[in-house]
Amino acid sequence: MSIKILSNTTVNRIAAGEVLERPASAVKELVENSIDARASKVDVIIENAGRNLITIIDNGLGMHKDDLSLCVERHATSKLPAEDINQIEFFGFRGEALPSIASVSRMNITSRQQDAQDEFAWNLEIIGGAKQELSPAPLSLGTKIEVRDLFFATPARLKFLKTEKTEINYIKDIMTKIAMANPEVALSLTSDGKELFNLKAHVGEKALYNRLNDLVKKDFKENFSYVELNDHECKINGYISLPTFNAGTSVEQYFFINKRPVRDKLLSMAVKIAYQDFIPSGRYPLVYLFLDMDPALVDVNVHPSKLEVRFKDAALVRSIVISAIKQSIRNIGQKASNHLSNATINSFIPNVIAQTIPRLEGSGQQYTPMPSKPSFTMPKNNASMQSSPSVFTAEQKSDMKQIFAPTAPVMQAEPNDFDKNQIDFPLGSACGQIHDTYILAQTKDGMILVDQHAAHERIFYERLKKQINTKEIQTQRLFIPEIVELPEHVIEQLMQEKQGFAKMGLYFDSFGGSAISVSELPALLKCADVKKMILDIVDDLNEYGQQVSLEKKINHFLATFACHHSIRSGRSLSIKEMNILLRDMEAHEHTGQCNHGRPTYIRLSLKDINKLFERT
Ligand code: ADP
Ligand code: MG
Repeated sequence: MSIKILSNTTVNRIAAGEVLERPASAVKELVENSIDARASKVDVIIENAGRNLITIIDNGLGMHKDDLSLCVERHATSKLPAEDINQIEFFGFRGEALPSIASVSRMNITSRQQDAQDEFAWNLEIIGGAKQELSPAPLSLGTKIEVRDLFFATPARLKFLKTEKTEINYIKDIMTKIAMANPEVALSLTSDGKELFNLKAHVGEKALYNRLNDLVKKDFKENFSYVELNDHECKINGYISLPTFNAGTSVEQYFFINKRPVRDKLLSMAVKIAYQDFIPSGRYPLVYLFLDMDPALVDVNVHPSKLEVRFKDAALVRSIVISAIKQSIRNIGQKASNHLSNATINSFIPNVIAQTIPRLEGSGQQYTPMPSKPSFTMPKNNASMQSSPSVFTAEQKSDMKQIFAPTAPVMQAEPNDFDKNQIDFPLGSACGQIHDTYILAQTKDGMILVDQHAAHERIFYERLKKQINTKEIQTQRLFIPEIVELPEHVIEQLMQEKQGFAKMGLYFDSFGGSAISVSELPALLKCADVKKMILDIVDDLNEYGQQVSLEKKINHFLATFACHHSIRSGRSLSIKEMNILLRDMEAHEHTGQCNHGRPTYIRLSLKDINKLFERT
């Protein structure tokens, strides 16, 4: 067999196999080219999900006649002037997209350079990779590219395409990501004559906010919090949802590095860790995070479609993302997502209507009748704190007492009425208790309903954590070291992290190759089943990496402890006790949600209440 150098067209079609998976990949490459050409407006028009026609019209810099003829040549690019692949400042740099798309379609490019003296624009047609003659054409400025019959030259690829609807969704998805990363560019997408979106350009400080508000349509102002952290190696900004505003999948988690959308396990794991105390397991926050870093510190060259990245310092990036999110969650403080009060209002309204119209015709919706009588519990005298049933042994409890100062509010109840002086506090002044479970408080402009157990649990947990964080971890030497048998590779993994575990109070050594001996534990965990704990830690290690797992373990333990030592629901409180709890909530971080991510209170504004009674 003799060796033969492949023709350009064949090489381009092979490259197309990698870069161009589907019509959406062509849309991505072409729109990114327009943005690289500094366009402030890009219109995308597709027919038949991009199979028949993709048209991109931009108002960017345009191309001179000579460049137009060069742009479809392989590895022809204007974006690496110094040929330094460590300094990539544009979306493109490989000079691969246009020749690849041109090799498998009928492409037509018209372009006019903005500052050129040319009387008219120039047009180039390329059919299945074969360039035709350049010809003059009308176009006032910028570039217009039409791609017809994509993949006609590689019919096998056509067979792999999904339904029209799915392919349109891929295009919408990639356009959405580009739109998020480039709020200063006006973008439109029209499919078979129907406008799918038409986003105007936003500039200035609020550009990202306004663009996300256009795209996300989820009451952005109420339910999201701004994230910003500037490290000299990596800047991060964006928006994250309040912990109480979460979703069942991670679909609404978007990450961008230097404006490129990326999918990266390290980043999604960092989000998970940052939210771990605030969100129930199996639920996901909505995040839109933009990282900006020196291109030399991140390798986007891993794959031509550039979704994956490799960080030079992954640990640094992870810790920056975690701190930025935690900081933002801390700033949220008392705020609980407004969709909760909206839900409350919606659940009230049908009950009001129910008295006159028992059933909405045709809707199939059944209204539940009003509960017979609301039951209010007036504060009782002498409702001193009872200790709640606990799963902890007497010995454990006495250990804990040594470590923690008394944590429950001291509740000396005395007959007391509504305290007007407390009404200006964010969570208002307590009025009474409902079903021995919920505290009703009046605020300056509305009312608050607090789940007393959830709220107290959170306060308790935050206090415990603070004490752990400010003190050296107290350890307990084991009288007889505990031998835990483990597979060899697990022992190897644990031994690598030995120093880190010692810092958190867990001391162990290898023991005869197939086991480890544990000699010292954090005092808090001394009553735990050591073997089970080590196995859990190994599991967590695999999921979270490094010592995060032990910290998580301790936090988990504290959360359980807090849950069992908080005011139970079903206990009546005096007004004074209620006010103490409300003030405590204001004084502690993260009190908008309990340790399991449920909300601790909901707020109804007077405006909303008035609406319920049609007083507006
Ligand atoms: P790359 O983007 O990696 O440089 P492409 O094959 O996508 O490679 O594009 C080749 C070149 O064609 C670009 O470097 C740019 O100079 C030019 N070009 C492509 N699209 C446009 C456009 N919409 N406006 C102006 N120039 C363009
Ligand atoms: Mg390109």
